[in-house]
Amino acid sequence: MGPGNSGEHVIKRDDNEHNPHFTVRGIGLCASCVHSSAIHNKEGNTFWLCKMSEKDVRYPKYPRLPVLNCAGFERRSDIP
Ligand code: SF4
Repeated sequence: MGPGNSGEHVIKRDDNEHNPHFTVRGIGLCASCVHSSAIHNKEGNTFWLCKMSEKDVRYPKYPRLPVLNCAGFERRSDIP
């Protein structure tokens, strides 16, 4: 499944990491994980790609959000 196939992993740009009021609400652990990559499309949506999916089939490329528990989670060092 890729971006746009389901609304479950889509968030509005207002809620992305470039917003000074950024929140993990609706995203969960991926928002602060070293293995996530935020993909922005021209419609203003953000998709959260899990890079663990490239080497481990247990991880979906676009996880169903919010991710509340994940064995692969590693906190980014720039987030307290
Ligand atoms: S390892 Fe888990 S928390 Fe990290 S990006 Fe992938 S699904 Fe999200």
